[in-house]
Amino acid sequence: MQDRNKHTVKPNNLLPRCAICEDVPVKGIAGGMKIRRAFICNQCEQKIVTMDVESQEYHAMVSTIKNILGF
Ligand SMILES: [Zn+2]
Repeated sequence: MQDRNKHTVKPNNLLPRCAICEDVPVKGIAGGMKIRRAFICNQCEQKIVTMDVESQEYHAMVSTIKNILGF
């Protein structure tokens, strides 16, 4: 650890940001999964698997993920 850059430290460089909720998980990379260059936190992952596939929210989520994957 270097403290010489203390004043310019931006956690975004080290911690992944969720592509869906834009949250930075406390556990960092261990708090979610990486999909290509994107990252999805555990919370969103859980949300996806427990979501009603008929719901609008689910379809919105699916398009977000498709965008991430570049479909
Ligand atoms: Zn998330």
